[in-house]
Amino acid sequence: MHTDATADWLARDAAAVWHPFTQHATWTDDDPTVVDRAEGPWLIDVEGRRYLDGVSSLWTTTLGHGHPDINAAIAEQIARLDHSTFLGTTHTPGIELSEALVALAPKGNGPELTKVFYAGDGSSAVEAALKIAYQYSTQTGHSRPKFVRLDQAYHGDTLGAVAVGGHDLFHQAYKPLLLATTGAPSPGDRALGPDRNAIAAAELRRIMAAEGEQVCAIIVEPMIQGAAGMLDYDAGFLRTARELADQHGALLIFDEVATGIGRTGRMWAAEHAGVVPDLLTCGKGITGGYLPLSAVLAAEHVYEAFLTRPGDTSPRTFFHGHTYTANPICCAAALANLRVMGEQDVVSRAATLGERLGKLLEPVAAKEGVVEVRRLGTMIGVEVAALGDRTGFRVCQAARKRGVWLRPLGDTVILMPPLTLGEEETELLVGALSESIDEVMR
Ligand code: PMP
Repeated sequence: MHTDATADWLARDAAAVWHPFTQHATWTDDDPTVVDRAEGPWLIDVEGRRYLDGVSSLWTTTLGHGHPDINAAIAEQIARLDHSTFLGTTHTPGIELSEALVALAPKGNGPELTKVFYAGDGSSAVEAALKIAYQYSTQTGHSRPKFVRLDQAYHGDTLGAVAVGGHDLFHQAYKPLLLATTGAPSPGDRALGPDRNAIAAAELRRIMAAEGEQVCAIIVEPMIQGAAGMLDYDAGFLRTARELADQHGALLIFDEVATGIGRTGRMWAAEHAGVVPDLLTCGKGITGGYLPLSAVLAAEHVYEAFLTRPGDTSPRTFFHGHTYTANPICCAAALANLRVMGEQDVVSRAATLGERLGKLLEPVAAKEGVVEVRRLGTMIGVEVAALGDRTGFRVCQAARKRGVWLRPLGDTVILMPPLTLGEEETELLVGALSESIDEVMR
């Protein structure tokens, strides 16, 4: 039950706000939480009720809310320089963050990632990567106007990102507007059966043999397709994708917007496979969950293709950027986040947290009404059997009564807590989920 304060805020919200991914005909029936403040892993509503932030505020929070070091870094940066354009000037936090990201970039089979191009959100990083890949093709050989993408993929909501997506519910409506792509089966698609990884790899091989000359890039979410419902797959598929991209002169793009910055128990999901792409997008957790910032990490050979040469008739410049590209406050937050993550070994802690969650979820996986528990590090999907309408959502509503805030993807309940979650909160998270499933399935 709430007081008039919540009712008043919700009435004002309904009168003036259009929320993302939200059906407003029923929005207020769902009794949305009106968040007032946050501390560590907790969200606190206008009534003072506390909820464990079980999905890290849409998969962004790394160290928890209100971390003193990130708070201080933001305050210092605001006092020094709020904003200065990255088009024609540069600034120290932007330079230092680029150095930090290059130093942290994944190593292995593939090129070294040596340059950082900034954007604002995950989608805009993907957009930049797609345009870089296409322009790279025109400046290194011939125009390759096609992308290869995976079924059920999700790379964001801007039109380029939608074009390389494969999530029918989100993407179907915009099909007539989209770029040319060829969809390969997803190695994470359970409907393909136990050989799904091999089937997807063989199909990717066939597509590249048939169309490779037209393909400027293959884009994938490495190791796990997040918005598809945490569909994890084998590292071998990424090695095949690397091999095929090289063989056919296409670039390989890893979209690490969800998986990057320690989320999977490694700094990058690419590290699970020992494969390095030509372009790597990251966002979400980069600022610790504080501010919108994303980046494309690029291989030197890609960057070099954009440098003018004697006798060039084309400018070769990447004519792309945003007003707030590399905003210094965002860069300062990201630098503080990465520094604390390094000092406190947060990536290893995320791996340990993931294993602990995996253990605690074993009995949940065995429950009637649970189809599958999928996990890579701290990215977890608990798929429940559809029991009437919006089963996943009902489980999340039941968890809310138990002090845990969750958001499902269809009938897959997502657990993606802050990377530094303590033991007691970890138990609360899984305990609340378990009881909530029982309540809904009863
Ligand atoms: N790529 C991936 C893999 C994502 O999971 C997301 C968001 N969930 C995006 C891109 C889009 O990021 P944003 O919402 O910040 O635009």
